[in-house]
Amino acid sequence: MDCTTRKTCYNTKEQAEDALLRARAQYPSSSGAGPVAVYHCAYCSCYHLTSKGEVSDLLRSKNTRQKIDLQREANYWESKMKGR
Ligand SMILES: [Zn+2]
Repeated sequence: MDCTTRKTCYNTKEQAEDALLRARAQYPSSSGAGPVAVYHCAYCSCYHLTSKGEVSDLLRSKNTRQKIDLQREANYWESKMKGR
């Protein structure tokens, strides 16, 4: 479904949170760049990522940070492979 915000739509909160984690892994941990939270959209009734506002509790949790670190490492090795 297309949304007026032109953001990617996620059907479930879980999907959006998964995407949020993967998006965060694209950025260095110190930069603070990238989306910070997921929210439910009133227009399309999907979930979107947002880079505005408070960093969500999800991203603050230790468990999540570990997942992001793992993803970051996976990205690193993946890019190494591609570079060959
Ligand atoms: Zn929307």
